[in-house]
Amino acid sequence: MKVVLQNLTKTFPGRSKNDRREVVAVNNFNFEIPDGKLIGLLGPSGCGKSTTLSLLSGLQKPTSGRIFFGDDDVTGLPAEKRGVGVVFQNYALYPHLTVKQNILFPLQNLKGVDKLSKTEMLERAYEAARLVQIEELMDRKPSELSGGQQQRVAIARALVKMPRVLLLDEPLSNLDARLRLQTREEIRRIQKETQITTVFVTHDQEEAMSISDMIVVMKDGVIQQIGKPQEVYDSPVNLFVAKFLGTPPINVFQGKIRDGRLCIGGEALLDVTGIPDQEVYVGIRPEGFILRENGALTCNLSGVEVMGRDISVVSTHESSAGPAIRAIIGAENKVDLGSQTVWFDVKPNKVFVFHRETEERIYI
Ligand code: ADP
Ligand code: MG
Repeated sequence: MKVVLQNLTKTFPGRSKNDRREVVAVNNFNFEIPDGKLIGLLGPSGCGKSTTLSLLSGLQKPTSGRIFFGDDDVTGLPAEKRGVGVVFQNYALYPHLTVKQNILFPLQNLKGVDKLSKTEMLERAYEAARLVQIEELMDRKPSELSGGQQQRVAIARALVKMPRVLLLDEPLSNLDARLRLQTREEIRRIQKETQITTVFVTHDQEEAMSISDMIVVMKDGVIQQIGKPQEVYDSPVNLFVAKFLGTPPINVFQGKIRDGRLCIGGEALLDVTGIPDQEVYVGIRPEGFILRENGALTCNLSGVEVMGRDISVVSTHESSAGPAIRAIIGAENKVDLGSQTVWFDVKPNKVFVFHRETEERIYI
């Protein structure tokens, strides 16, 4: 099921006594989710992810704009008529019901032509349970399950009605690190198996990058960039997106363009012929550094962090916008820890330049 958001806007009245300005939680969203894809809505807390999801689910009505599922305009359709499955961060299972009863619950409320026989309901419930691999837990109560298992039950409950669209709002946030990793792979597998168009909301860039066909990076209710995870990482449109994606994060420097050269401090990093002189921000991905004696950029060595296959060379520079610079290089590189200084050359495709005021990308 293709999903289209057209000029979608949601505003809320100002809530605090001193500030009555309205909040534009979702500001004129336009994008299309292709049939059968998993799309990650990504951005910091408060950027409008949950609001977007509740507009899609029908729990909230947009201030303006339209939503289409395929050719159906569902904008005026109530939540229960949209055919969506929703999973929230806090599983929200019924504590007094067994797993089986929890999964059956959405089916028992079906009316009229949608009404199912008891056998059909059980078949559907077991099929959903099989998908999320909890068949052997069907007679337990939620309190007898781990967080990861509870979240699987919640996913099964969302799947049991065979939704046209699956909506997941930070479904992994309550899980510990290992389970989070495992469950996100599970979600991806289930999504691929069912081919249900899925919107996955998270503030965790790594999570979004790892499971999404496409990510939508948001800030303050405004879409910043839409694309395949790797494309967005490799070519961010502005400083916000560049900083939001990547661990360790991109290294940002105050720099300038002088006579066709990109400079940090007094040192020229790259030729950028044809770009007018100006102050800029220079972003260098951690993997964009090449350790080289007397290289283009001179930094003060702080130390080395061992990461296994790679090492992270930690240094400082007076033009660095952050407290530390992290350069990820192969472990075969030898760093002289007795030295005060470390030099780097840079890989041009890992260096991004941004306007100092607008923070928009300047393509070099
Ligand atoms: P996210 O899920 O990305 O953290 P939300 O969609 O929950 O963000 O919120 C986006 C913005 O809308 C925030 O500024 C939030 O305070 C505001 N907001 C969300 N829901 C309401 C509401 N019911 N009433 C007023 N403001 C709201
Ligand atoms: Mg939210």
